[in-house]
Parts: sequence; C-alpha cells; structure tokens
Amino acid sequence: MDYKKYIDSVMDFPTKGINFRDITSLLQVGPVYRAAIDEMAEFARSKNAEVVVGPEARGFVIGGPLAYSLGVGFVPVRKPGKLPREVVTVSYEKEYGVDELCIHKDSIKPGQRVLVTDDLLATGGTIDATIRLVKSLGGIVVGVAFLIELKELDGEKLLKDYDVFSLIDY
Ligand code: IMP
Repeated sequence: MDYKKYIDSVMDFPTKGINFRDITSLLQVGPVYRAAIDEMAEFARSKNAEVVVGPEARGFVIGGPLAYSLGVGFVPVRKPGKLPREVVTVSYEKEYGVDELCIHKDSIKPGQRVLVTDDLLATGGTIDATIRLVKSLGGIVVGVAFLIELKELDGEKLLKDYDVFSLIDY
C-alpha cells in the first residue's frame, strides 16, 4: 500500500518553515486507516504486547484501534489535570520550554509487556517521556510503533535501546 499518497503535507503549519505531515487525510479513508492499523498490529503481535500505551491526542487514534485489534488494554498518557486518579508525572523538553505528561499509577503492572505508540516520531521528546512513564511503573517496553517517522530529525537516537517500527518514513 502506498500510504504516502494519503498523507497531506502542509507548508508553514503551525508556524513558518514547518512542513506539517497531516495524518487526518489518511484517517478519513476507512480501508487505508484499517490497513495501516493492521500492519502496526502485526508488529505489536510479534512482540507479544500485553498492553498498548499512547500519548494524547493523536496517539489515541492509533493506540485505541491497535489495542482493540490485539485484544489488549489501552492506557492513555495525558497532559496534567486530565486524568482523574492518582498519576505519575514526567517533564520533557519542547521546542519552547518544558512540558509534562502523566499516566495513571495503577495502569501498568510491573513486568507487563508494553507496546508504546504515537502517530509521528519527530525529535522523540514525546515518546521518550511516554517510555519513561511506562518504565517508572515497571513496564517492559517490547516495541515502539509509529505511523510516520521524520528521519531527518533523528528521533530514533533516543530510541536506540528499543525495537522501532514505522509505517511511513520521510
Ligand atoms: P516529537 O516529540 O518532537 O517527536 O514530536 C512528536 C509529537 O508531535 C507527536 O505527538 C505528533 O503528534 C506531533 N507532531 C510533530 N510534528 C508533526 C507533524 O508534522 N505532523 C503531525 N504531528 C506532528
């Protein structure tokens, strides 16, 4: 499947100089969305993942159907103030300043095999923070899966200890 033809590239969004890769143009075509999730699920299944973890918001659009396909649970990683029960929080560097992400403290059992996913790997900051949350709860990251990887930003160097799968590379 030529997935790239379903990804719109939008110049100067959200700020000047950024070539934004828009996954919504792929998501809106049902058979293509399904085929993409099926391929990612095949990777996750080969890793015997027992739970899927993804950061808001686009990580939910990938992680939810992936978990459904595997028949395992989905655990959301969210910005502060969104999750109702006790959380663990980590900080991470963004282009402008520091941000935080949280996970429910009881969402992963020590030793559980975790597939971490998001829509897109850029610098790797978001997925690195998500992995740190999983590990702080004792989860074992058995794989990391993306719909898109922006190779030139070299986010994979933060993920060198993990098995990384990306469906589309730029
Ligand atoms: P990173 O933390 O620098 O790897 O950025 C990845 C996060 O930013 C992901 O959660 C993406 O949803 C979002 N992101 C960054 N660049 C793009 C893009 O070109 N298209 C869609 N999402 C992006």
